[in-house]
Amino acid sequence: MRPHRAYAPQLQPTLSLTGREAHHLAEVLRARPGDAVTVFDGKGREGRAVVRRVEGGVVELEVTETWPAGREPPLPVVLYVALLKGDGLADVVRAATELGVTRIVPLVSLHAVAKEIGEGKLLRLRRVALEAAKQSGRTTVPEVLAPIPLGAIPPVEQGLVAHPGSSLRVRDVLDLSQPVALATGPEGGFSEAEVQILAERGFTPVTLGRRILRAETAPLALLSLVTAGEGL
Ligand code: SAM
Repeated sequence: MRPHRAYAPQLQPTLSLTGREAHHLAEVLRARPGDAVTVFDGKGREGRAVVRRVEGGVVELEVTETWPAGREPPLPVVLYVALLKGDGLADVVRAATELGVTRIVPLVSLHAVAKEIGEGKLLRLRRVALEAAKQSGRTTVPEVLAPIPLGAIPPVEQGLVAHPGSSLRVRDVLDLSQPVALATGPEGGFSEAEVQILAERGFTPVTLGRRILRAETAPLALLSLVTAGEGL
């Protein structure tokens, strides 16, 4: 059986986990003294640990070894995703984390139904990213930033925007030697003016095929072509 995974912001020889992390290990996974645990710091390091004590909501671990893990894409992959209605963004954050995204930036755009997300929802999205990182064996936890207006996206070295009007495919334009930023639109799509702004910031419009994908599906299709499709 694969050892349980636990997150600790700093991997020291002895770790005292409290709060959610301790509760998850002790109550949900029923970890007991002597059990092996894999720990990771969310910044690219992981290690081997043994449970020494489980008591009063605290789980004590002895970390025996740590190492830099190589399970992250070699270059940053940033996803700008338009705000989605309902719980759509949580599903995107979960799957995008599994697919190796580095940072997720929700976008306020013209044709989006949702125009903002509250502090509580943002914290929940960050927890979704942490849980998905643990489950998929990642060693870094993607950042989930507060939403920004589309016009606030900075210029990028390499950008791809999913746009149904384009005939360019990802494989025609992707340069694996550069960081990449991806953008996908809301239920109502990006306006032509928004696509123009994105083009000025360095985003090339690409197609995701002949069918129109839902706004929840498009970011995952685009990300898959860049990370899973290239073995990153
Ligand atoms: N009528 C809208 C349009 O033409 O843009 C459809 C929007 S679609 C539901 C939501 C987003 O998914 C789009 O803004 C785009 O970023 C992406 N998308 C969906 N299907 C796509 C495709 N076949 N090619 C490229 N991007 C696509």
